[in-house]
Amino acid sequence: MTTLIQSQTPSTLTNSATRKHHKFGPSRLEYLDTCAAFENRVSSDTSYSDEGTMLHDLMDDVIKQVAVGAFKTTLEQISEWVTSNHELTDEQINYLRFCCKECDKVLALHPEQVLSEINVVIKNEDGSEFNHGYLDVLFIRGGNTGILFDFKFGYIPVPHASINLQGMNYMVGVFQMFPDIQRIGVKFVQPKLGSVSEAIFERANVYEYYERLQIVVARSLAVSKYPETAQQFMKPGPYCDYCENSKHCAVLANHRASFANQFGSLPMPVPIASLTLEKPQDWALARYWVDVIDKGLEGFKAQCQQVAENNGGELRCTLPNGEEVVYEMRERNSDRVLGGAQDISEALKESVTFEQILGAAKLSLTALKPIVETSMTELHNSNLQKGEKKLTKKAAWEQATSTLEALGLLSKPDTKIRFLQLKKQQKQEELPPAPAALQIGDANEEAYIQSLQPGEAGMGSNT
Ligand code: SF4
Repeated sequence: MTTLIQSQTPSTLTNSATRKHHKFGPSRLEYLDTCAAFENRVSSDTSYSDEGTMLHDLMDDVIKQVAVGAFKTTLEQISEWVTSNHELTDEQINYLRFCCKECDKVLALHPEQVLSEINVVIKNEDGSEFNHGYLDVLFIRGGNTGILFDFKFGYIPVPHASINLQGMNYMVGVFQMFPDIQRIGVKFVQPKLGSVSEAIFERANVYEYYERLQIVVARSLAVSKYPETAQQFMKPGPYCDYCENSKHCAVLANHRASFANQFGSLPMPVPIASLTLEKPQDWALARYWVDVIDKGLEGFKAQCQQVAENNGGELRCTLPNGEEVVYEMRERNSDRVLGGAQDISEALKESVTFEQILGAAKLSLTALKPIVETSMTELHNSNLQKGEKKLTKKAAWEQATSTLEALGLLSKPDTKIRFLQLKKQQKQEELPPAPAALQIGDANEEAYIQSLQPGEAGMGSNT
């Protein structure tokens, strides 16, 4: 039977969702290598990461069952117990199958150790901790060969195992933790993309890889310490979507501006030489460029849809990092439309009161106004007494609103809504004001025209 060792160094086997990640942990290095100022976004939408965590935990469970001898393979467990104990979609089951097949290829080689979800710690030369992170599974066979797996349940392709910094990080840590291991195979398994990449590393080169990791972390530390020189290590790209800094990132703001500039004859933005937007004029410039992009967006999206319609229902491209971006035409039913409150109340009168139905309706002044105006004027004008004036819609609405106000049913909260609006744009250099009573031929006119002429080295000069 294969031996399951949970930990070699002081580390704890925990559910992956509850772990604390190192600031420069293995899974962040790829982002930091692209942009040294990257910071993980604190996101409220965890649906994708929840799925990834759940699938990781299931893979962890099935691997452990083989390690303790309860099953021969991981794949057989999917139909044996995984699907009967977990609510999984067909797609999720297929993702697990894909990973299991890769694992079983290695298990067929009868590794003597299977180390599942161990905390890999890299040490610096002085013994201090460089970083740590949990690898998915490490198989050890023949006493000197390690094979480590990382399962990726996302759609973004990760860099190949031969250059992948996360894999490199685990590999260096495993070499440090297991002195007998001489070579390590690193495998990245991405079931959503149907892809597997693998590379083999030798102990003799471990310092070279450690240095590569050190540079990434050193750059990131330098960027936080000296933000004024940060821009040379910052690169906007797909990772900006996951970056907490994207709300105030100077490089991203400039990048948007340069992009928008290609489609118009507007002036190039002034470079903002810092990590984040700081001065109010930097924010103004960034806000202006967002407006420039934003204004044409609806029309642009409509054009894209038209092009997609004419292109077999989709648009696709590949980003420099290999991520494939696909937009495809989809259809959905229009939202259901409710009838009037009176009719709904009538239909449901056995179980719901009219007041309860009204409670679900959203009243708005805009919707109420025409109803009240029409109803009041019709009622009043159909019973006009002799000499009595007709009720106008304006007067009807005034009557109605003052009644509602008197009953406290219509009020204007004291709070003010503040918003940012683009003012009419002004030129920096204003013309000198014309004399108050300027007449054609007037002596003042001559003086005024003179004042508009450039001086000797003035506007007329090319120098
Ligand atoms: S938003 Fe800015 S800091 Fe974040 S990854 Fe993009 S360029 Fe880097």
